[in-house]
Amino acid sequence: MIPRTIFEPEHEQFRESVRKFFESHAVPYHAQWEKDGQIDRALWNKAGEMGFLAPSVPEEYGGMGLDYLYNTVMDEEMAKLGLSGPGFHLQNDITVPYLVKHASEAQKQKYLPKCLSGEMIVAIAMTEPGTGSDLQGVKTTAIADGDEYVINGSKTFITNGQQADLVIVVCKTDPNAGAKGISLLLVEAGTPGFEKGSNLEKIGLKAQDTSELFFQDVRVPKENMLGEEGMGFVYLMQDLPQERLTIAVMATAGMEATLQQTVDYVKERKAFGQPIANFQNTQFKLAQMDAEITAMRVFVDRCIELHVQGKLDAVTASKAKMLASDLQNKVIDECLQLHGGYGYMWEYPVARAFADARIQRIFGGTNEVMKIIISRELLAD
Ligand SMILES: Cc1cc2nc3c(=O)[nH]c(=O)nc-3n(C[C@H](O)[C@H](O)[C@H](O)COP(=O)(O)OP(=O)(O)OC[C@H]3O[C@@H](n4cnc5c(N)ncnc54)[C@H](O)[C@@H]3O)c2cc1C
Repeated sequence: MIPRTIFEPEHEQFRESVRKFFESHAVPYHAQWEKDGQIDRALWNKAGEMGFLAPSVPEEYGGMGLDYLYNTVMDEEMAKLGLSGPGFHLQNDITVPYLVKHASEAQKQKYLPKCLSGEMIVAIAMTEPGTGSDLQGVKTTAIADGDEYVINGSKTFITNGQQADLVIVVCKTDPNAGAKGISLLLVEAGTPGFEKGSNLEKIGLKAQDTSELFFQDVRVPKENMLGEEGMGFVYLMQDLPQERLTIAVMATAGMEATLQQTVDYVKERKAFGQPIANFQNTQFKLAQMDAEITAMRVFVDRCIELHVQGKLDAVTASKAKMLASDLQNKVIDECLQLHGGYGYMWEYPVARAFADARIQRIFGGTNEVMKIIISRELLAD
């Protein structure tokens, strides 16, 4: 076994309290939340009270100013427990970091304390019905009119969309300027003309709410611009590596947990008068998975370490996202097979893991888009 070296004792203490928190406040309720299509909103407030939301927010805004390893601990514990419902990773690793990096002082004072307490859930809306991979092709417009922008368009597949109180909307402030015309605007729930569609029905992530969002002549003050006008695409390119690393982190922790569950299962389950662990096929499958996961763990940990040092480049983050999510899907499929028919039953964690893992190769940029990013660098002059 290769010991993990990236965490300090304080990260491990944090891990212990995170795990206890989720074991008592989320695990017993998750099956019901899957039926509801969303988690209990109160979990956000409870997590906020414990300091589990956006641990990286600087102390001056009420946060703890902690490093990304604390986010990693949260993501790993949730993945290991199969808690795919709470979209905390989106708040902690993606949306709040946008506010920390690019918001004005007034926006930070207004929003960050509420993000920390769980009073405010922040979603990010890039994808549109007609545009996902090709971000530059977004059609939602935000046209300046006096002191305001007027937003028109629609978004889809937005995580935490039903429960969101604030949405970072990717839109074109100059529809003729391509990527340079893209900006990020903050739109609060309840703003006239901003409507949430129905909670979309998915094959996995059953307890996570995912929505369409509609904007019809939505007027927001110009102060709602996040960062500079026309810089939206640059900000997205800068911040997507952390999103991609988070996917790799959750994939790796998730498959480690599923492998362990499978090891336990094959020792118990009998066929032809003996535990299925006795069959060489089972042993070889487990050995292969264990070896591949070990290699992935070392790679992903090194990426985390580089990221904490501010040295993880976008291409390496894309490699981590692609390889970890591909391996996660392969491993979970094999683990399900080793569970036989029980693996197909929703009550078994491996069944849920199978359904939840599929999206990992699609969101955060599809794995084909990751290959475009990697090969572009490889072939550059
Ligand atoms: C559960 C869920 C949660 C999500 N959460 C969010 C969210 O919070 N915010 C948000 O903005 N979006 C979110 N998304 C959207 C997600 O990021 C997109 O679905 C994803 O980027 C792919 O875009 P698309 O669905 O339009 O697929 P498309 O872009 O239409 O791609 C279809 C297929 O074509 C391939 N393809 C596209 N272009 C190329 C190319 N140049 N070369 C080769 N192959 C190509 C793709 O890889 C894919 O296989 C979420 C999606 C889901 C399902």
